[in-house]
Formats: sequence, structure tokens, C-alpha cells
Amino acid sequence: MSDAPILLPVEEARARILGLCTPLATEWVPGDDALGRALAEDVLARRTLPPWDNSAMDGYAVQARDLAGPLPVRLVVGETVFAGRRPTREVVPGTCARIMTGAPLPLGADAVVMRERTRPVPAAPHDAPDAVEILEAVGPGNFIRPRGEDAKEGDLLLRRGTPLGIPELGLLWAQGQGTVPVPRRPRVAVLSTGDELCRVDEPPGDGIVDINAPALALAVRRAGGVPTLLGIARDTRQAVQEALARTEGFDVVLTSAGVSVGDHDFVKDALEALGVEQRFWRVAIKPGKPLVVGQRGSTLFMGLPGNPTSSLVTFELFVRPALRRLLGHADVEPPRVAGRLEGQLSKAPGLAHYVRVTATWRAGELWAKPLGTQTSGALRSAAAATHLLHFPREISSLTDGSHVELLPLSWVA
Ligand code: AMP
Ligand code: MG
Repeated sequence: MSDAPILLPVEEARARILGLCTPLATEWVPGDDALGRALAEDVLARRTLPPWDNSAMDGYAVQARDLAGPLPVRLVVGETVFAGRRPTREVVPGTCARIMTGAPLPLGADAVVMRERTRPVPAAPHDAPDAVEILEAVGPGNFIRPRGEDAKEGDLLLRRGTPLGIPELGLLWAQGQGTVPVPRRPRVAVLSTGDELCRVDEPPGDGIVDINAPALALAVRRAGGVPTLLGIARDTRQAVQEALARTEGFDVVLTSAGVSVGDHDFVKDALEALGVEQRFWRVAIKPGKPLVVGQRGSTLFMGLPGNPTSSLVTFELFVRPALRRLLGHADVEPPRVAGRLEGQLSKAPGLAHYVRVTATWRAGELWAKPLGTQTSGALRSAAAATHLLHFPREISSLTDGSHVELLPLSWVA
């Protein structure tokens, strides 16, 4: 029997993972906890905004047809309208109202002339009405923000799945909506495996510090999840199994290391022993080939490779999209931008490479320079990276200046 591994293309692996995820139950949270999360429901406007035609400038509310004759035109100022007050007089031919930005337009007025295009009329004899000279003719609608420009009652204001940035939250606040429906945050367990690992505050002896668990926990938090560290499981089937048995109630379980073909790689066995159904193992990717994915009930298990860079790359390409799906985002694919390769790259066909690059904007384009070291064992190859350059599976060389796909990284400071 052939021992050749079946390697899933990256896109198919991601599609399969996303197929295992659906948005979590809805909770209502205050706006500041909703930032960066996605709406769980369509939101209809319940207020028409602005509620009245209002001025976009400090100036004078006029009847545009009063300005048709030779300039300047002298108008009598009936009143001054401030934001937050109501006008009390109709603007009739020959008159105007002094008006401030945001103040409701008086009845009869159909345009605003900005104050800079007017000239005050010197103080007139006592009792004479206040007057102004208008220096330019404007058409109807000039500097008027029409009622309902931002929202009309009943409009679909924001669609389900829309990520809530600051302006989106502003739109909701303007509607009087202080809490927002969003899928709850995924609870994510993070487990490191390996006999060689110790905590950062322990003397390493012959081992190394566990980087993956704290790094993945930060990546989870940045992606909107709630991480829980399960510690370090030693390299025995029993230890890994015992640690993984403590994952009841989590939406996602992330392990690192022990998923390859080494004699001490027990993660796959432990998952199987716990009744986790393996969905796939191994992806046509470098770094990150040994990724294993399984499911039990509604819990998604993702066994990431042990090399710290590999675990972070697979987080970006597979875990983050899964978390975004659970968080209800309409758009879950890793973001991509167009760039050019500075230098050249070559490889054997068969695996897609995700090359750590530093990309800088030059002469109207994003130029991506591969970092000096690309081994997955060295975390140096991830530090300073701003993007991953996608070097497609079937291609074996990219020449200087090639047009490439770049994935902005969520790890960067
Ligand atoms: P493994 O998949 O267990 O063969 O691990 C691959 C490589 O990643 C080995 O060199 C491990 O020492 C290293 N490694 C595994 N887990 C961690 C971790 N949590 N932090 C840092 N390095 C790790
Ligand atoms: Mg190991």
C-alpha cells in the first residue's frame, strides 16, 4: 500500500473547516464589547435621521429665488437658529434666518449660504431690523442636509454578519440602540504537548519554553475568542488523552505539536480514543502540513503543528477563519491584497508555501521582501513579517517583480 499522504489543498481544508462551524448563540452586549464583532441580526432603522432638514454650514437660510437678481442682495434677518433649537419664523421673500450647523431649517427656506459668502450690514438706525448682504447666488438645496439622509425609519441599516466598526456602532447609537445582538464569543481551550516544554517562569533544563500556548491564546483573544490555557501535556497517550478529556463545554480546542509521524506524536490517537471524529489530516502547505481537524458534538478540535511559526501560520489560515465564522462574520476568508515580489523564490511543486515577508509601499505598489530565514522552526522568520506571500502549490518559481497575493497578518503589533 502506498504511504503517500493525501494532502488537502489549503482552500479545500479551509472550506471543510468552515463547513463544521456555524455562528454561536446570540447575546446582547454594550457597544464597546461589540467592537470588531459581527451583527447577529439585520438591524432596521427605527428613527429617521436627521429628523429634519438642517443646515450643513454656519450661514443664512434663504429662499434661493431671492438671489436671482444682481448681487449683492440685501435680506432682512428674521431670527437666529441654533442647533438644538427650533425655528419660530417662516422665511418669506426678502428675509432670511441666521443659522448654525445642524440647526433645523426654517419653514420657507430652501437653501443655505455659508457665512463666508455674506457681509454684515453695518448697524442700522435704532429699531431697524438686522440685515445681511448675500454675495453669491446658490441653488435650492445648497448646504442642506435633507431629512432621512442617514436613515429612514424601516430602512435596512446594517445587515447580519456586518462587522461592527466604530462608525457602525455610531449608527446604532444614533438610533438609540446602546446594546447590540452579536454571537457570543467562542470559548477556546489551548493545550501544548511535549516532554521538552516548560513554562516561561521555569528553568528550561534540557527543554525549551512553551511558546505556542501563550502565543495562540493571544491570537485567539485578538480574533475575538476567549482563550483558556490547559497547560502542557507530556508525550504519552494517556497524558494527552487526560488533558483533552477536560475540554467539555469548549467550542474549539487547539492543541500544538504531536500531530506528525513521530514516535511520540499522540494527539491523533488521543482524539480518536475520546470519540473525536477526524475530518482530515495534513494539508498541502508549508509551513503547517501536519494539521489535523476533528469534531465531537459541537466542539471543533484543531491539532496544530508544533513549530511556533507553523502554529501561527495555521492559526491565520485555518483557525481565525473558523473563529470568525463562529462569531457570525459574513466575511471569514483571510484578507488579501495585491503586491509585487522583491527578489525571487523557487520551490518544488506540490505544497503551497506561505512565505513570511515584510511589505512596504513604494511607487504606488506594495513590495514584498521575503525575510532572511524561512524555516518553520525559527520564530525569527515570523517576527518582522507583515504579510504572508502565497506561493501557489503548482508553481515552482516566482521571478523578481512577480504579481503576488499577500495576506496581511493579524499578529503584527
Ligand atoms: P512536534 O510536532 O512535537 O514534533 O514538534 C515540532 C517542533 O516544535 C519541535 O521542535 C518542538 O520542540 C517544537 N515545539 C512543540 N511545541 C512547542 C511549543 N509549545 N513551544 C515551542 N516549541 C514547540
Ligand atoms: Mg513533540
